Amino acid sequence: MKKILIVEDERNFARFMELELMHHGYAVTVVGSGQEGLETATRDASWDAILLDAMLPGLHGFEVCRGIRRAGFATPVIMLTARDSVTDRVSGLDSGADDYLPKTFAFEELLARIRAVIRRSKRGSGAAQAALAYRDLRIDPVAGTVSKAGVVLELTKREYELLLVLMNHRDRVLSRAMLLDLVWGYDCEAGTNVVDVYVRYLRNKIDDPGQRSYIHTVRGIGYVIRS
Ligand code: CA
Repeated sequence: MKKILIVEDERNFARFMELELMHHGYAVTVVGSGQEGLETATRDASWDAILLDAMLPGLHGFEVCRGIRRAGFATPVIMLTARDSVTDRVSGLDSGADDYLPKTFAFEELLARIRAVIRRSKRGSGAAQAALAYRDLRIDPVAGTVSKAGVVLELTKREYELLLVLMNHRDRVLSRAMLLDLVWGYDCEAGTNVVDVYVRYLRNKIDDPGQRSYIHTVRGIGYVIRS
């Protein structure tokens, strides 16, 4: 049985997730604070996935996630965020979360994400460390910079976030709608063609002329960076 740790201070919401997940065959433990979450998550390596609320009293969800990674645990973390800002999502990724979901999710989606992060974590360990380097590109999430063969590139915030999201979801094809949600925000009114425009800007800055692009177009679906 797969073991899920839920770190969530809103009791009703935690209880709802607990019951649903148990119903779907998971063994579930719930803790209600960031501190407890960090302690429980790093006690041993028995967790298959962690659902981590971003807004927790005391220790914030991002800090909990950073703490888990610092302690050397690669347990998949799905960050649940009530807020709907790009900054939150990028901070979530920077702190080492594998995925994030606004709390308005449909439960089926959460189940799908849980299965996906568990599947991915079984595949590559060491993938997390390599996640921010690809061929001669390096992302420094602390400085918020991207360099190519050691030379720092001039990217706009949007271009940077788009590249970060693609790098963090390597080998996973992201649809234009997903990229729009992740980079521009769920309430963004822009059409998905804005994604194509920014992929083009990004390619102009990171690709070598005449060489295959770093970002692959998957016709009719979206974009992916393949390892
Ligand atoms: Ca909360």
